[in-house]
Amino acid sequence: MRTAIIGAGIGGLATAVRLAVAGHEVTVFEKNDGPGGKLTEFSLEDYRFDLGPSLFTMPQYVDELFELAGRDPREYFEYERLPVVCHYFWEDGTRLRAHAAAEDFAAEAERVLGVEAESTLAFLRQAEKKYRLTGRIFLEKSLHRLRTWLDPGVLGAVLRIPGYDLHRSMHRVHERAFAEPKLVQLFDRFATYNGSNPYRAPGLLSMIPHFEHHFGAYLPTGGMYDISKSVHALARDLGVAFHFGTGIDEILLEKDRVSGVRIGAERLPFDRVVSNADVFFTYEKLLPTARKPERILRQQKSTSAIIFYWGIARRFSELGVHNIFFSEDYRREFADLEAGTLYADPTVYVNQTAGRVPGDAPEGHENWFVMINAPYKRDQDWDELVALTRRRTLEKLRRILGVDIEALIRAETHLDPRSIESRTGSHLGALYGTSSNSPLAAFLRHPNFSRRIDGLYFVGGSAHPGGGIPLCLLSAKITADQISPPLVSRASARAARR
Ligand code: FAD
Repeated sequence: MRTAIIGAGIGGLATAVRLAVAGHEVTVFEKNDGPGGKLTEFSLEDYRFDLGPSLFTMPQYVDELFELAGRDPREYFEYERLPVVCHYFWEDGTRLRAHAAAEDFAAEAERVLGVEAESTLAFLRQAEKKYRLTGRIFLEKSLHRLRTWLDPGVLGAVLRIPGYDLHRSMHRVHERAFAEPKLVQLFDRFATYNGSNPYRAPGLLSMIPHFEHHFGAYLPTGGMYDISKSVHALARDLGVAFHFGTGIDEILLEKDRVSGVRIGAERLPFDRVVSNADVFFTYEKLLPTARKPERILRQQKSTSAIIFYWGIARRFSELGVHNIFFSEDYRREFADLEAGTLYADPTVYVNQTAGRVPGDAPEGHENWFVMINAPYKRDQDWDELVALTRRRTLEKLRRILGVDIEALIRAETHLDPRSIESRTGSHLGALYGTSSNSPLAAFLRHPNFSRRIDGLYFVGGSAHPGGGIPLCLLSAKITADQISPPLVSRASARAARR
């Protein structure tokens, strides 16, 4: 059986590996010149930057791909666990280092914020319970197949879900757990891990901190792009054919069945097509005659971002890999994002890897990836919003770090929702596909297969179970299992238990 995969994003690459392991003949077409999609890198003068993702959790899902193929992941890919997952900064001078180990994090919250360590640990235990109850259902299975719901374990778990804050917002859950507003804000931030709003996203998502404080946060030794590079190398070693710089113009159909793909005037026959392109653009551009799932395509998008990539001529000992400079009014910040604009005092995320990845910046310099949450693209004046946000960001960093950052910038470029859409093919520049702002969001994403067209499948951040590297890797597992069910292996079982 010949399978074409459109797109070499992390979801497309992982699907290619899984299908190749199952003995399929797989060809990947990617319109960019190399693999990775959003998970890629670029250089600017003497600085290296990861273009998109900077936070790496659940590395076992990457390792699993190598184990499935009978290879040693460490021969392709190395990473380290970060002892501190994030450095938090507030305008009043409060600084908190969120240690990966839950006990150390709770002790730090007690020391800095006066919150009893046991309250933080109890909250994290509750987050773990939510994950254990729902993770395997919502994240590891197709929600769109009857057989999922006939599994007695799944049904039992679903009946218990309402007790796990499905109808309460994340913010409300955090407010009930903690009287200290800074700790509430810190946990609210995890809604942004899938581009959602903590004041609307269901409280069930307060399981997200469990990923960092139990499974940990990691950094590949060569930077985030190592993830795409290594999975691409594995797929190639397994015999997957790659065509870079080759955009697909159409998915060919015969009646209600996929028959191949078209590149310009060339028509190539395939038995199956897996689209790793954004679901919206797959229907809009590649399936011009097919009936569109309008309800799914109209869903609210996740947030986008404005990202400044700055080469900085100084080292900052107070910064780690991940750093957050909080807004004074988080509720207002999210209200403005929903209204389609940016709040005057935005939360600023600074990532820098120069301290850990040799060669990412010249000696004594840092490579700053500075990200501010932004609304998805509507009819905003982005040139004006980018200029305004740059000024506000620099002012905020100067206030909190006490340093004129602008004077230290040696190299600079930026992305905004327009360029995120054009460079990564993400509809309206959304970072994570659709938002998770409703209790039913998990059920509303596009399935990993088409109900109307035989042989057509979907994988990646705009399909089930959603955006972010770990979920895209799970999306690949679900998609490959739809195509080739006996893929469950000892490696999968081991990864699921971890
Ligand atoms: P994508 O990366 O979306 O790639 C799809 C590929 O399909 C692209 O390479 C595109 O060129 C190709 N394609 C599209 N149409 C065609 C066509 N017609 N023919 C051929 N090829 C085509 N996630 C995290 O886990 N941690 C983070 O810290 C994080 N931060 C992020 C920051 C930013 C700025 C962005 C943009 C995203 C971030 N994410 C993060 C989300 C994460 O990057 C994505 O969810 C994930 O990488 C998406 O992978 P994907 O499989 O959907 O493919």
